[in-house]
Amino acid sequence: MEAGASRIARAGQVTGIEETMSYITNLKCRECGQEYPISPLHVCETCFGPLEVTYDYARIRAAISRSTIEKRPHNLWRYRELLPVDVDDKSDLVGPNSGFTPLLHCKRLGAELGLKHLYIKDDTVNHPTLSYKDRVVSVSITKAREFGFTTVSCASTGNLATAVAAHAARAGLQCYIFMPEGVEAGKVVGSTIYGAKVITIRGNYDDVNRLCSEIADKYGWAFVNINLRPFYTEGAKTFGFEVAEQLGWRLPDHIVVPTAGGTILPKVAKAFKELKEVGLIKSGEFKIHSAQAAGSAPVIHALHKGTDLITPVKPDTIAKSIAIGNPADGFYVLKAVRDSGGWGDVATDPEIIDAIKLLARTEGIFAEPAGGTTLAVTIKLVKQGRIKPDETVVVSITGNGYKTLEAVASAIEQPSIIDARLKDFDALFDRLTNGKRTADSAA
Ligand SMILES: *Cc1c(COP(=O)(O)O)cnc(C)c1O
Ligand SMILES: [Zn+2]
Repeated sequence: MEAGASRIARAGQVTGIEETMSYITNLKCRECGQEYPISPLHVCETCFGPLEVTYDYARIRAAISRSTIEKRPHNLWRYRELLPVDVDDKSDLVGPNSGFTPLLHCKRLGAELGLKHLYIKDDTVNHPTLSYKDRVVSVSITKAREFGFTTVSCASTGNLATAVAAHAARAGLQCYIFMPEGVEAGKVVGSTIYGAKVITIRGNYDDVNRLCSEIADKYGWAFVNINLRPFYTEGAKTFGFEVAEQLGWRLPDHIVVPTAGGTILPKVAKAFKELKEVGLIKSGEFKIHSAQAAGSAPVIHALHKGTDLITPVKPDTIAKSIAIGNPADGFYVLKAVRDSGGWGDVATDPEIIDAIKLLARTEGIFAEPAGGTTLAVTIKLVKQGRIKPDETVVVSITGNGYKTLEAVASAIEQPSIIDARLKDFDALFDRLTNGKRTADSAA
Protein backbone atom coordinates (compact mmCIF):
# COMPACT_ATOMS: atom_id res chain seq x y z
CA MET A 1 0.00 0.00 0.00
CA GLU A 2 1.24 3.47 -0.83
CA ALA A 3 2.00 5.84 2.01
CA GLY A 4 -0.57 8.39 0.89
CA ALA A 5 -3.32 5.84 0.48
CA SER A 6 -2.61 4.22 3.84
CA ARG A 7 -2.80 7.57 5.59
CA ILE A 8 -6.17 8.12 4.05
CA ALA A 9 -7.29 4.64 5.01
CA ARG A 10 -6.29 5.18 8.62
CA ALA A 11 -7.88 8.60 8.71
CA GLY A 12 -11.01 7.02 7.34
CA GLN A 13 -11.13 4.33 9.97
CA VAL A 14 -10.75 6.93 12.71
CA THR A 15 -13.01 9.67 11.43
CA GLY A 16 -15.40 7.69 9.30
CA ILE A 17 -15.20 10.42 6.66
CA GLU A 18 -13.46 8.34 4.03
CA GLU A 19 -15.30 5.19 3.16
CA THR A 20 -13.12 4.16 0.26
CA MET A 21 -9.64 5.03 -0.87
CA SER A 22 -10.81 6.65 -4.04
CA TYR A 23 -9.89 10.23 -4.87
CA ILE A 24 -13.01 10.84 -6.95
CA THR A 25 -15.67 13.05 -5.51
CA ASN A 26 -18.64 13.15 -7.85
CA LEU A 27 -20.03 12.92 -11.34
CA LYS A 28 -20.53 16.38 -12.82
CA CYS A 29 -22.40 17.49 -15.93
CA ARG A 30 -19.98 19.03 -18.41
CA GLU A 31 -22.68 21.39 -19.64
CA CYS A 32 -24.73 22.65 -16.66
CA GLY A 33 -22.49 21.64 -13.75
CA GLN A 34 -25.15 19.56 -11.96
CA GLU A 35 -23.51 17.00 -9.65
CA TYR A 36 -24.43 13.37 -9.09
CA PRO A 37 -23.09 10.71 -6.73
CA ILE A 38 -20.66 8.15 -8.22
CA SER A 39 -22.91 5.63 -9.99
CA PRO A 40 -23.31 3.99 -13.42
CA LEU A 41 -24.79 7.14 -14.95
CA HIS A 42 -23.57 8.94 -18.05
CA VAL A 43 -26.02 11.69 -19.01
CA CYS A 44 -27.33 14.63 -17.01
CA GLU A 45 -30.98 14.23 -16.06
CA THR A 46 -31.53 17.98 -16.39
CA CYS A 47 -29.83 18.89 -19.68
CA PHE A 48 -28.71 15.53 -21.20
CA GLY A 49 -25.08 16.72 -21.15
CA PRO A 50 -22.31 14.14 -20.65
CA LEU A 51 -21.14 13.44 -17.10
CA GLU A 52 -17.51 13.51 -16.04
CA VAL A 53 -15.75 12.28 -12.91
CA THR A 54 -14.39 14.94 -10.54
CA TYR A 55 -11.32 14.49 -8.30
CA ASP A 56 -9.95 15.96 -5.12
CA TYR A 57 -6.71 17.25 -6.63
CA ALA A 58 -5.42 18.72 -3.37
CA ARG A 59 -5.47 15.29 -1.76
CA ILE A 60 -3.92 13.67 -4.83
CA ARG A 61 -1.15 16.28 -4.86
CA ALA A 62 -0.38 15.38 -1.23
CA ALA A 63 -0.51 11.63 -1.88
CA ILE A 64 1.73 11.15 -4.95
CA SER A 65 5.10 12.20 -6.27
CA ARG A 66 7.27 11.29 -9.24
CA SER A 67 9.21 8.82 -7.12
CA THR A 68 6.15 7.01 -5.69
CA ILE A 69 4.91 6.53 -9.24
CA GLU A 70 8.29 5.49 -10.62
CA LYS A 71 8.59 2.70 -8.03
CA ARG A 72 5.34 1.08 -9.11
CA PRO A 73 4.91 -1.75 -11.65
CA HIS A 74 4.99 -0.80 -15.33
CA ASN A 75 1.26 -0.74 -15.99
CA LEU A 76 -1.44 1.91 -16.18
CA TRP A 77 -2.37 1.48 -12.50
CA ARG A 78 0.78 3.38 -11.54
CA TYR A 79 -1.43 6.49 -11.95
CA ARG A 80 -4.31 5.01 -9.96
CA GLU A 81 -4.95 8.08 -7.78
CA LEU A 82 -5.87 9.88 -11.01
CA LEU A 83 -8.23 7.10 -12.13
CA PRO A 84 -11.88 6.70 -11.03
CA VAL A 85 -11.51 3.50 -9.01
CA ASP A 86 -10.90 2.47 -5.41
CA VAL A 87 -7.14 2.54 -4.99
CA ASP A 88 -6.91 0.04 -2.15
CA ASP A 89 -4.04 -2.24 -3.09
CA LYS A 90 -6.09 -5.25 -2.04
CA SER A 91 -8.61 -4.41 -4.74
CA ASP A 92 -8.57 -6.63 -7.73
CA LEU A 93 -7.60 -4.33 -10.59
CA VAL A 94 -8.37 -5.59 -14.09
CA GLY A 95 -5.58 -5.32 -16.67
CA PRO A 96 -2.42 -5.77 -14.58
CA ASN A 97 -0.38 -5.76 -17.78
CA SER A 98 -2.19 -3.02 -19.67
CA GLY A 99 -0.50 0.28 -20.40
CA PHE A 100 3.05 1.55 -20.01
CA THR A 101 3.71 0.80 -23.66
CA PRO A 102 7.00 2.00 -25.22
CA LEU A 103 7.70 5.59 -26.22
CA LEU A 104 10.24 5.17 -29.00
CA HIS A 105 12.62 7.85 -30.24
CA CYS A 106 12.42 7.36 -34.02
CA LYS A 107 15.59 8.50 -35.76
CA ARG A 108 15.06 6.81 -39.11
CA LEU A 109 11.44 7.95 -39.48
CA GLY A 110 12.45 11.36 -38.08
CA ALA A 111 15.07 11.70 -40.83
CA GLU A 112 12.41 11.00 -43.49
CA LEU A 113 10.15 13.67 -42.00
CA GLY A 114 12.89 16.18 -41.18
CA LEU A 115 12.29 15.96 -37.42
CA LYS A 116 15.02 15.53 -34.81
CA HIS A 117 12.83 14.68 -31.83
CA LEU A 118 10.16 12.40 -33.21
CA TYR A 119 8.62 9.82 -30.87
CA ILE A 120 6.10 7.05 -31.42
CA LYS A 121 3.87 6.14 -28.49
CA ASP A 122 3.43 2.50 -29.38
CA ASP A 123 0.09 1.04 -28.31
CA THR A 124 0.41 -1.63 -31.02
CA VAL A 125 1.93 -3.71 -28.21
CA ASN A 126 -0.62 -2.93 -25.51
CA HIS A 127 -1.69 -5.96 -23.46
CA PRO A 128 -3.66 -8.10 -23.99
CA THR A 129 -5.33 -6.98 -27.26
CA LEU A 130 -2.81 -4.72 -28.98
CA SER A 131 -4.61 -1.38 -28.99
CA TYR A 132 -5.20 1.72 -26.88
CA LYS A 133 -8.61 0.24 -25.94
CA ASP A 134 -6.92 -2.01 -23.34
CA ARG A 135 -6.56 1.19 -21.28
CA VAL A 136 -10.19 2.31 -21.23
CA VAL A 137 -11.36 -1.27 -20.75
CA SER A 138 -9.05 -2.03 -17.79
CA VAL A 139 -10.51 0.95 -15.99
CA SER A 140 -14.16 0.48 -16.96
CA ILE A 141 -14.27 -3.26 -16.19
CA THR A 142 -12.58 -2.66 -12.84
CA LYS A 143 -15.36 -0.14 -12.19
CA ALA A 144 -18.06 -2.51 -13.49
CA ARG A 145 -16.94 -5.06 -10.89
CA GLU A 146 -16.92 -2.40 -8.15
CA PHE A 147 -20.52 -1.59 -9.06
CA GLY A 148 -21.39 -5.30 -8.96
CA PHE A 149 -22.21 -5.88 -12.64
CA THR A 150 -21.90 -9.46 -13.87
CA THR A 151 -22.38 -8.79 -17.61
CA VAL A 152 -20.29 -6.35 -19.62
CA SER A 153 -20.90 -5.18 -23.16
CA CYS A 154 -19.94 -2.56 -25.72
CA ALA A 155 -20.72 -0.94 -29.05
CA SER A 156 -17.49 -1.25 -30.98
CA THR A 157 -15.71 -0.54 -34.25
CA GLY A 158 -13.52 -3.58 -33.50
CA ASN A 159 -10.66 -2.89 -31.11
CA LEU A 160 -12.95 -2.20 -28.19
CA ALA A 161 -14.66 -5.52 -28.90
CA THR A 162 -11.43 -7.49 -28.57
CA ALA A 163 -10.42 -5.61 -25.42
CA VAL A 164 -13.78 -6.01 -23.66
CA ALA A 165 -13.97 -9.70 -24.59
CA ALA A 166 -10.46 -10.45 -23.32
CA HIS A 167 -10.65 -8.45 -20.09
CA ALA A 168 -14.14 -9.85 -19.35
CA ALA A 169 -12.82 -13.39 -19.76
CA ARG A 170 -9.99 -12.79 -17.31
CA ALA A 171 -12.32 -11.04 -14.85
CA GLY A 172 -14.86 -13.89 -15.09
CA LEU A 173 -17.72 -11.77 -16.44
CA GLN A 174 -20.36 -12.52 -19.07
CA CYS A 175 -19.78 -10.58 -22.29
CA TYR A 176 -21.88 -9.39 -25.26
CA ILE A 177 -20.22 -7.53 -28.13
CA PHE A 178 -21.98 -5.41 -30.77
CA MET A 179 -20.18 -4.40 -33.99
CA PRO A 180 -21.19 -3.06 -37.41
CA GLU A 181 -21.01 -5.46 -40.35
CA GLY A 182 -17.81 -5.33 -42.39
CA VAL A 183 -15.37 -5.16 -39.46
CA GLU A 184 -12.02 -6.89 -40.11
CA ALA A 185 -11.84 -10.66 -39.50
CA GLY A 186 -9.08 -10.19 -36.90
CA LYS A 187 -11.49 -8.24 -34.76
CA VAL A 188 -14.43 -10.62 -35.12
CA VAL A 189 -12.33 -13.75 -34.49
CA GLY A 190 -10.33 -11.77 -31.92
CA SER A 191 -13.42 -11.21 -29.77
CA THR A 192 -15.28 -14.49 -30.33
CA ILE A 193 -12.24 -16.51 -29.25
CA TYR A 194 -12.59 -15.25 -25.65
CA GLY A 195 -16.06 -16.74 -25.31
CA ALA A 196 -17.96 -13.50 -25.84
CA LYS A 197 -21.29 -13.54 -27.67
CA VAL A 198 -20.60 -11.45 -30.77
CA ILE A 199 -23.49 -9.75 -32.55
CA THR A 200 -22.97 -8.07 -35.92
CA ILE A 201 -25.44 -5.32 -36.81
CA ARG A 202 -26.55 -4.56 -40.38
CA GLY A 203 -25.58 -0.90 -40.35
CA ASN A 204 -22.70 1.38 -39.37
CA TYR A 205 -21.22 2.16 -35.95
CA ASP A 206 -23.71 4.92 -35.30
CA ASP A 207 -26.60 2.46 -35.81
CA VAL A 208 -24.89 0.01 -33.42
CA ASN A 209 -24.47 2.72 -30.80
CA ARG A 210 -28.12 3.73 -30.98
CA LEU A 211 -29.29 0.13 -30.53
CA CYS A 212 -26.89 -0.42 -27.63
CA SER A 213 -28.26 2.59 -25.72
CA GLU A 214 -31.67 0.91 -25.84
CA ILE A 215 -30.25 -2.46 -24.80
CA ALA A 216 -28.33 -0.85 -21.91
CA ASP A 217 -31.59 0.65 -20.58
CA LYS A 218 -33.57 -2.55 -20.96
CA TYR A 219 -31.06 -5.21 -19.87
CA GLY A 220 -29.10 -3.33 -17.22
CA TRP A 221 -25.68 -4.47 -18.41
CA ALA A 222 -22.47 -2.52 -18.04
CA PHE A 223 -21.88 -1.08 -21.52
CA VAL A 224 -18.35 0.17 -21.01
CA ASN A 225 -18.67 3.02 -23.50
CA ILE A 226 -22.31 3.91 -22.78
CA ASN A 227 -23.50 3.76 -19.15
CA LEU A 228 -19.94 3.44 -17.80
CA ARG A 229 -18.64 6.09 -20.20
CA PRO A 230 -17.52 8.61 -17.52
CA PHE A 231 -15.22 5.94 -16.04
CA TYR A 232 -14.20 4.38 -19.36
CA THR A 233 -13.02 7.66 -20.87
CA GLU A 234 -10.80 8.41 -17.85
CA GLY A 235 -8.72 5.34 -18.72
CA ALA A 236 -7.55 7.14 -21.88
CA LYS A 237 -5.68 9.67 -19.72
CA THR A 238 -3.05 7.03 -19.00
CA PHE A 239 -1.80 7.40 -22.59
CA GLY A 240 -0.93 11.03 -21.79
CA PHE A 241 0.46 10.33 -18.30
CA GLU A 242 2.86 7.79 -19.78
CA VAL A 243 4.04 10.10 -22.58
CA ALA A 244 4.94 12.79 -20.03
CA GLU A 245 6.66 10.39 -17.64
CA GLN A 246 8.56 8.69 -20.47
CA LEU A 247 9.81 12.08 -21.74
CA GLY A 248 11.29 12.64 -18.28
CA TRP A 249 8.25 14.34 -16.73
CA ARG A 250 7.76 16.95 -19.41
CA LEU A 251 5.28 17.50 -22.21
CA PRO A 252 6.02 17.25 -25.93
CA ASP A 253 5.67 20.41 -28.02
CA HIS A 254 3.20 18.49 -30.19
CA ILE A 255 1.15 15.33 -29.92
CA VAL A 256 -0.89 13.98 -32.83
CA VAL A 257 -3.87 11.84 -31.83
CA PRO A 258 -6.48 10.01 -33.96
CA THR A 259 -10.15 10.86 -33.48
CA ALA A 260 -13.09 8.49 -33.74
CA GLY A 261 -15.77 8.97 -31.05
CA GLY A 262 -13.54 11.63 -29.51
CA THR A 263 -12.50 9.92 -26.29
CA ILE A 264 -8.73 9.77 -26.40
CA LEU A 265 -7.81 13.24 -27.66
CA PRO A 266 -9.50 15.39 -24.99
CA LYS A 267 -8.41 12.91 -22.32
CA VAL A 268 -4.75 13.18 -23.33
CA ALA A 269 -5.10 16.96 -23.04
CA LYS A 270 -6.79 16.50 -19.66
CA ALA A 271 -3.99 14.18 -18.51
CA PHE A 272 -1.36 16.81 -19.32
CA LYS A 273 -3.34 19.44 -17.39
CA GLU A 274 -3.80 17.15 -14.40
CA LEU A 275 -0.07 16.41 -14.18
CA LYS A 276 0.51 20.14 -13.86
CA GLU A 277 -2.36 20.50 -11.38
CA VAL A 278 -0.97 17.84 -9.03
CA GLY A 279 2.59 19.14 -9.34
CA LEU A 280 4.17 16.30 -11.31
CA ILE A 281 5.31 18.52 -14.20
CA LYS A 282 6.34 22.17 -14.35
CA SER A 283 5.40 23.52 -17.77
CA GLY A 284 1.94 22.80 -19.09
CA GLU A 285 2.54 23.95 -22.68
CA PHE A 286 1.67 21.62 -25.58
CA LYS A 287 -0.21 21.59 -28.88
CA ILE A 288 -2.58 18.70 -29.58
CA HIS A 289 -3.59 17.82 -33.15
CA SER A 290 -6.42 15.60 -34.39
CA ALA A 291 -6.12 13.06 -37.22
CA GLN A 292 -9.15 11.63 -39.07
CA ALA A 293 -9.55 9.49 -42.15
CA ALA A 294 -10.78 11.57 -45.11
CA GLY A 295 -13.74 9.18 -45.43
CA SER A 296 -14.89 9.86 -41.86
CA ALA A 297 -13.82 13.33 -40.84
CA PRO A 298 -16.76 15.23 -39.28
CA VAL A 299 -14.53 16.79 -36.59
CA ILE A 300 -11.83 17.97 -38.99
CA HIS A 301 -14.48 19.48 -41.28
CA ALA A 302 -15.80 21.52 -38.34
CA LEU A 303 -12.26 22.46 -37.28
CA HIS A 304 -11.39 23.71 -40.75
CA LYS A 305 -14.68 25.61 -41.10
CA GLY A 306 -14.13 27.27 -37.74
CA THR A 307 -17.45 26.10 -36.34
CA ASP A 308 -18.50 24.13 -33.23
CA LEU A 309 -21.22 22.43 -35.21
CA ILE A 310 -20.30 18.88 -36.17
CA THR A 311 -22.27 17.61 -39.16
CA PRO A 312 -22.51 13.79 -39.09
CA VAL A 313 -21.21 11.86 -42.12
CA LYS A 314 -21.61 8.31 -43.45
CA PRO A 315 -18.14 6.77 -43.00
CA ASP A 316 -16.30 5.26 -45.96
CA THR A 317 -12.67 4.43 -45.23
CA ILE A 318 -10.27 1.52 -44.69
CA ALA A 319 -9.62 2.99 -41.22
CA LYS A 320 -12.60 1.13 -39.77
CA SER A 321 -11.55 1.45 -36.13
CA ILE A 322 -11.94 5.24 -36.36
CA ALA A 323 -14.93 5.25 -38.74
CA ILE A 324 -17.46 7.05 -36.55
CA GLY A 325 -19.67 9.47 -38.46
CA ASN A 326 -21.40 11.03 -35.45
CA PRO A 327 -18.78 11.27 -32.68
CA ALA A 328 -20.17 11.47 -29.14
CA ASP A 329 -17.35 13.71 -27.90
CA GLY A 330 -16.43 15.51 -31.12
CA PHE A 331 -17.18 18.89 -29.56
CA TYR A 332 -14.62 18.26 -26.82
CA VAL A 333 -12.01 17.30 -29.42
CA LEU A 334 -12.51 20.68 -31.11
CA LYS A 335 -12.27 22.46 -27.78
CA ALA A 336 -9.08 20.66 -26.68
CA VAL A 337 -7.42 21.23 -30.07
CA ARG A 338 -8.33 24.93 -30.16
CA ASP A 339 -7.46 25.57 -26.49
CA SER A 340 -3.97 24.18 -27.10
CA GLY A 341 -3.35 26.07 -30.34
CA GLY A 342 -3.25 22.78 -32.23
CA TRP A 343 -4.72 21.82 -35.57
CA GLY A 344 -5.79 18.71 -37.46
CA ASP A 345 -6.11 17.20 -40.89
CA VAL A 346 -7.34 14.19 -42.84
CA ALA A 347 -5.60 11.30 -44.61
CA THR A 348 -6.98 9.52 -47.66
CA ASP A 349 -6.92 5.72 -47.89
CA PRO A 350 -3.81 5.70 -50.16
CA GLU A 351 -2.04 8.13 -47.79
CA ILE A 352 -2.95 5.87 -44.85
CA ILE A 353 -1.48 2.82 -46.59
CA ASP A 354 1.72 4.68 -47.53
CA ALA A 355 2.16 5.81 -43.93
CA ILE A 356 1.63 2.28 -42.57
CA LYS A 357 4.34 1.04 -44.94
CA LEU A 358 6.69 3.91 -44.08
CA LEU A 359 6.40 3.27 -40.34
CA ALA A 360 6.93 -0.45 -40.79
CA ARG A 361 9.93 0.03 -43.11
CA THR A 362 11.70 2.67 -41.02
CA GLU A 363 10.92 1.66 -37.44
CA GLY A 364 9.71 -1.94 -37.46
CA ILE A 365 6.26 -1.02 -36.18
CA PHE A 366 3.19 -2.45 -37.94
CA ALA A 367 0.27 -0.11 -37.32
CA GLU A 368 -3.36 -0.52 -38.24
CA PRO A 369 -5.01 2.13 -40.45
CA ALA A 370 -5.73 4.43 -37.46
CA GLY A 371 -1.95 4.61 -36.95
CA GLY A 372 -1.38 5.21 -40.65
CA THR A 373 -3.89 8.05 -40.46
CA THR A 374 -2.06 9.67 -37.56
CA LEU A 375 1.35 9.42 -39.20
CA ALA A 376 0.02 10.66 -42.56
CA VAL A 377 -1.53 13.68 -40.84
CA THR A 378 1.73 14.34 -38.94
CA ILE A 379 3.54 14.46 -42.29
CA LYS A 380 1.01 17.06 -43.49
CA LEU A 381 1.42 19.17 -40.34
CA VAL A 382 5.20 19.19 -40.87
CA LYS A 383 4.75 20.21 -44.54
CA GLN A 384 2.36 22.98 -43.48
CA GLY A 385 5.05 24.33 -41.14
CA ARG A 386 2.90 23.79 -38.06
CA ILE A 387 5.51 21.40 -36.61
CA LYS A 388 9.12 22.66 -36.72
CA PRO A 389 12.23 20.48 -37.21
CA ASP A 390 13.60 21.07 -33.68
CA GLU A 391 10.35 20.52 -31.80
CA THR A 392 9.45 17.38 -29.85
CA VAL A 393 6.63 15.48 -31.52
CA VAL A 394 4.74 12.42 -30.30
CA VAL A 395 2.76 10.41 -32.85
CA SER A 396 0.06 8.25 -31.23
CA ILE A 397 0.00 4.79 -32.79
CA THR A 398 -3.10 3.30 -31.24
CA GLY A 399 -3.58 -0.12 -32.84
CA ASN A 400 -1.75 -3.10 -34.34
CA GLY A 401 -1.68 -3.98 -38.04
CA TYR A 402 -1.85 -7.74 -37.48
CA LYS A 403 -5.58 -7.35 -36.76
CA THR A 404 -6.20 -5.49 -40.04
CA LEU A 405 -4.17 -7.42 -42.61
CA GLU A 406 -6.84 -6.94 -45.27
CA ALA A 407 -6.21 -3.18 -45.26
CA VAL A 408 -2.72 -3.58 -46.74
CA ALA A 409 -2.72 -7.11 -48.19
CA SER A 410 -3.09 -5.95 -51.79
CA ALA A 411 -0.77 -2.95 -51.38
CA ILE A 412 2.40 -4.85 -50.58
CA GLU A 413 5.00 -6.57 -52.72
CA GLN A 414 4.04 -10.22 -53.18
CA PRO A 415 6.56 -12.86 -52.00
CA SER A 416 8.68 -14.70 -54.59
CA ILE A 417 7.95 -18.40 -54.98
CA ILE A 418 10.71 -20.82 -56.03
CA ASP A 419 11.51 -24.52 -55.79
CA ALA A 420 13.89 -25.64 -53.04
CA ARG A 421 16.94 -25.54 -55.33
CA LEU A 422 20.01 -23.34 -54.86
CA LYS A 423 20.26 -22.50 -58.56
CA ASP A 424 16.66 -21.25 -58.51
CA PHE A 425 17.56 -18.96 -55.64
CA ASP A 426 20.73 -17.80 -57.46
CA ALA A 427 18.61 -16.79 -60.45
CA LEU A 428 16.06 -15.05 -58.23
CA PHE A 429 18.78 -13.19 -56.31
CA ASP A 430 20.22 -11.96 -59.61
CA ARG A 431 16.84 -10.63 -60.61
CA LEU A 432 16.14 -9.03 -57.19
CA THR A 433 19.51 -7.24 -57.22
CA ASN A 434 19.71 -6.60 -61.00
CA GLY A 435 22.85 -8.73 -61.05
CA LYS A 436 24.75 -6.08 -59.06
CA ARG A 437 25.52 -8.18 -55.99
CA THR A 438 26.85 -11.70 -55.70
CA ALA A 439 27.16 -12.52 -52.00
CA ASP A 440 27.34 -10.56 -48.77
CA SER A 441 30.75 -8.89 -48.47
CA ALA A 442 31.10 -10.27 -44.96
CA ALA A 443 30.98 -13.85 -46.27
C1 LIG B 1 -10.96 3.57 -30.78
C2 LIG B 1 -9.71 3.88 -31.47
C3 LIG B 1 -9.20 5.19 -31.59
C4 LIG B 1 -9.81 6.47 -31.10
O1 LIG B 1 -11.10 6.50 -30.76
P1 LIG B 1 -11.77 7.63 -29.85
O2 LIG B 1 -13.18 7.18 -29.79
O3 LIG B 1 -11.62 8.95 -30.53
O4 LIG B 1 -11.09 7.58 -28.54
C5 LIG B 1 -7.99 5.35 -32.20
N1 LIG B 1 -7.30 4.32 -32.68
C6 LIG B 1 -7.74 3.06 -32.57
C7 LIG B 1 -6.89 1.99 -33.15
C8 LIG B 1 -8.94 2.79 -31.96
O5 LIG B 1 -9.35 1.53 -31.86
ZN1 LIG C 1 -26.54 19.05 -17.20
